[in-house]
Amino acid sequence: MKPKFDDTYQHKGLRRQLIQLLREKGITDETVLDAMNNIPRHFFLDSAFDKIAYEDRAFPIGEGQTISQPYTVAYQTQLLQVKKMEKILEIGTGSMYQSSVLAEMGARVFTIERQKKLYDQHGSFVFKGRYPNLKFFYGDGFEGLPAYQPYDKILITAAAPFIPPKLVAQLKTGGMMVLPVDEGENQRMLRLTKMEDGSLAEEAFEEFSFVPMLTGKNR
Ligand code: SAH
Repeated sequence: MKPKFDDTYQHKGLRRQLIQLLREKGITDETVLDAMNNIPRHFFLDSAFDKIAYEDRAFPIGEGQTISQPYTVAYQTQLLQVKKMEKILEIGTGSMYQSSVLAEMGARVFTIERQKKLYDQHGSFVFKGRYPNLKFFYGDGFEGLPAYQPYDKILITAAAPFIPPKLVAQLKTGGMMVLPVDEGENQRMLRLTKMEDGSLAEEAFEEFSFVPMLTGKNR
């Protein structure tokens, strides 16, 4: 991975076009669109993708994993209704792009990655100084991160085979979890709200295609 940390006039122009495309595809939350317009997505990709980093596509990031499609990032972030200072747990750090969008929006972000090689990349993260509110953890997302619970919001960015019970337990009452849940080939995007009695109110949205959420850690 040799990213280029130069945000040129051309990159900025392509990024504005991408934001416009996300609007046309139905993203309306301006705080999400602003955050994505502020973050150079090409910094999160190998320099080979420099010219196409602002296409609305997922790309490989190594270890068989992908950086989510911009539309998917915008869609999940919009469903999460992110507010400044909220404590958010993200499962699946991957390229750190989605984590950065949440941090750019002023949330306190805790993100977990199970692939050691991907986790280790946070050591040379270009926005370390810009996001003191973003913390990286190596572990299994099915376990969550009990040390910092309860969370206002939880976001899963890999295809969950079921709703992980330990994550539900770490969610605040009134808190929300957004996750794609397996339905055969694709996943259904769900938003769960934890009610006073501990039960979950469930809303179902569009279908997406994510890499699988796997158990255990990988060296
Ligand atoms: N949010 C990422 C998307 C990466 S793809 C981005 O913006 O780039 C999903 C990621 O979830 C992969 O990196 C994969 O290794 C990770 N993952 C899968 N199962 C996991 C689990 N149980 N715990 C933590 N991370 C997991």
